[in-house]
Parts: sequence; C-alpha cells; structure tokens
Amino acid sequence: MMSKLVLVLNCGSSSLKFAVLDAQNGDELLSGLAECFNLVDARIKWKMDGKKNQADLGAGAAHREALDYMVNTILASKPELAEQLVAIGHRVVHGGEKYTKSVLIDDAVVAGIEECATLAPLHNPAALIGIRAAQASFAGLPQVAVFDTAFHQTMPAEAYSYAIPQKLYREHGIRRYGMHGTSHLFVAGEAAKALGKDAADTNVISCHLGNGGSITAVRNGKSVDTSMGLTPLEGLVMGTRSGDLDPAIVFHLVDNLGYTLTEVNNMLNSQSGLLGLSELTNDCRGIEEGYNEGNKGCVLAMEVFCYRLAKYIASYTVPLKRVDAIIFTGGIGENSDLIRKKVLEHLTIFGYAVDEEKNLSARFGGEGVITKDGTPVAMVIPTNEEFVIASDALGLI
Ligand code: ADP
Repeated sequence: MMSKLVLVLNCGSSSLKFAVLDAQNGDELLSGLAECFNLVDARIKWKMDGKKNQADLGAGAAHREALDYMVNTILASKPELAEQLVAIGHRVVHGGEKYTKSVLIDDAVVAGIEECATLAPLHNPAALIGIRAAQASFAGLPQVAVFDTAFHQTMPAEAYSYAIPQKLYREHGIRRYGMHGTSHLFVAGEAAKALGKDAADTNVISCHLGNGGSITAVRNGKSVDTSMGLTPLEGLVMGTRSGDLDPAIVFHLVDNLGYTLTEVNNMLNSQSGLLGLSELTNDCRGIEEGYNEGNKGCVLAMEVFCYRLAKYIASYTVPLKRVDAIIFTGGIGENSDLIRKKVLEHLTIFGYAVDEEKNLSARFGGEGVITKDGTPVAMVIPTNEEFVIASDALGLI
C-alpha cells in the first residue's frame, strides 16, 4: 500500500513549524522550524533522513520566504516526498464558535478564519499566509484546517461564560475559547488507551506545559473546562505570560503609574510568567538550575508555577467528579520530574503519591504512570499535535 503523506504547517506569529508525516502510522519523514521572522537572522532548520540542516533565509524573511525555501529547496531535493503528498494540514489557532472540528478549506473557510482573526490577531493572519502560500505551491492538493479551539467547543456555558454583561458575548463573542485543543485531545485519547478504557468513558485532567501552557478537564472524552480564555493569556503561569491576575492591575498601571496599554499588553504577554518572576529566564531548564542553586527569583518562579497549576488541578475535580488520570505533556510536562513531583505533593489530599523511579524514567521521550501502584494515577504522555493534524487531514479527503 502507498503511504499517505501529509504536509503539516503550523504558522505562528514569528515562526513556522513544518513536517511531512505518514498520516497512518505517524512516521515523520521531514520536520523543521523557520524562526526569527522579520529579523536580520531569519533562518530555517530541518531534519530529513536523520540529518540536521540549517540555512539563512535572509534579513527580514518571514512566512512566505520560509515556505518558498521549504518547497523549492528542501522538498525539491527529494521529489519522491512531494509526489506522495495527499493533503496539507494547517494548524489554525482560532476557530471561534464556528468550527467545532477540522474542515476542508474552501473560500468560505478562508473567510471564516479571517472573521475569527479579530479574536487572534497575531495568529490567524499567519495561518492564512500559510494557507494561501500552500494553495499556490500545491494547487492540486486538498488543504485542511485543524483548529486549536475546536476541542473545547463542548464546554458548557457555566465554564465558558465570563461574568460580564452578556451583550459582549452576544455581539462580540467574548467568552472562554481555550487553546492547545489538538494536544489535549491527543493525550486524553492516549491516556484512555494506556488505562485500557474507552475514551468516551474516561475522565482526565490534561496539563499541556510548553512555552505556553494550559490545563483541560476532559469528561467522557470531551473538554468541559480549560484554563486559557478568549486569548492564551489567561490561566497558568507560562514562560513569559502572567496567566491569571486581578484585571484591576491593568487600570492601576495605566491610570496611576503612567504605563500605556501597549506597554501593559507587552508586559503581560512577553515580560511576565517565569521570566517576570525569576528576573532571569523564561526557560524552565534555567529555572530548575537556579532553583537547585537556591537563586531567589528562580525559587519564587518555581513555587508560583507549581502552586498555580496544583490549584487548577484541584479545581477541575469539580466538573469531573471522578478523575482517571492527571496527564503531563509539553516540553515541561514531558521532562521536568521536579515540577511534576512538586505539583503532585500539593495534591496529597487526593492521595497522589509520586514513584520517584518512575518519575525519573518518564523524561526525554520516556512516558507512563509516575505515581505509586494503588494510588491515583498521574502519567506522562508525549504530545503529538502533528499526528492529529495529519490524520484529521487524511480523514477528510
Ligand atoms: P512550545 O510551547 O514552544 O511548543 P515546548 O513544548 O517545546 O514549547 O516546551 C518548551 C519548554 O520545555 C521550555 O520551558 C523548556 O525549558 C522546557 N523543557 C525542555 N526540556 C526540559 C527539561 N529537560 N527539563 C525541564 N524543562 C524542559
């Protein structure tokens, strides 16, 4: 049987991740990242046939130049890959209330993604650039949009409504949407398999902890609450985002301390979180190092991060009633035994007890249960958003 290859494109505001996958078994034949868009050192890195490569894209290069390079240089060097492509899957951050699952892209969908761009002004336009460029380069191939928000569209009104005048929801769609849906969906499914249960009968609390982070309560396979809101700023402590805070801080900064709204926006999205607390780094590895050396800022960053996450986990017992597993995923969730241990120690009231050995082996690609036999289950599951995007794309063509 011919393999079914899908090109997966993930256009961020200043980067582009790409991969060619066998959509049936998840084998990755090409993967890469173009970054530092619009800067002098815009560059592209990729891995193919087990070899790592890198090239400069030229000062000021962005999505279009990166895609051109990928098509005309990388894929062109291996025509048999390009020839076997059956579809292109695009990660799109915001699908509003319009998209509850992945869809084949046509003119109406392009217009729909454009409409949702008011809710994700940095991300949706980037996805549209990727879609248009891919349509131009691969005119014959079906293109599929996979939305980060789609999985969360099953949340009930009590979870997605903000307690503000409802006119804002009705007229402007202001509500909780949530992100990382593809990742939460994937790891919840994998957890069900690992537990030997039906996904439709499995309740998990999924913690996706990367540079951005969010946590989702999954009841009977469906998202019923999540920590990101209208935008990715709400919820957990992240690399550079503050997560939850008193909204009156914004008024105080602007009205009394002379900040502009643009400065506050930049502060809360890019200067806060682990970076703001540690005054050192947004990278969890650096925070762990500092924590182990007793650096005050890093200790504070670590404690606030774990405490906030543990509080969220505890609160998600409310919609779930029964929790089959806590899942840790994303760069931090998959690698930081320290954070997992500290978080679960906050939750001993529920009976969680970390198995030190299992916790240490579930790193750097390792996975599985990290709690002691006979105690409630917490587990590590590496996420694979690209695989979900590729299999959704294959399923739709
Ligand atoms: P993104 O959200 O950009 O996809 P990732 O899921 O790759 O990010 O997660 C990046 C985070 O994972 C960074 O904070 C990084 O420090 C952290 N991380 C990666 N490896 C380790 C490790 N061995 N120990 C602790 N944190 C790690």
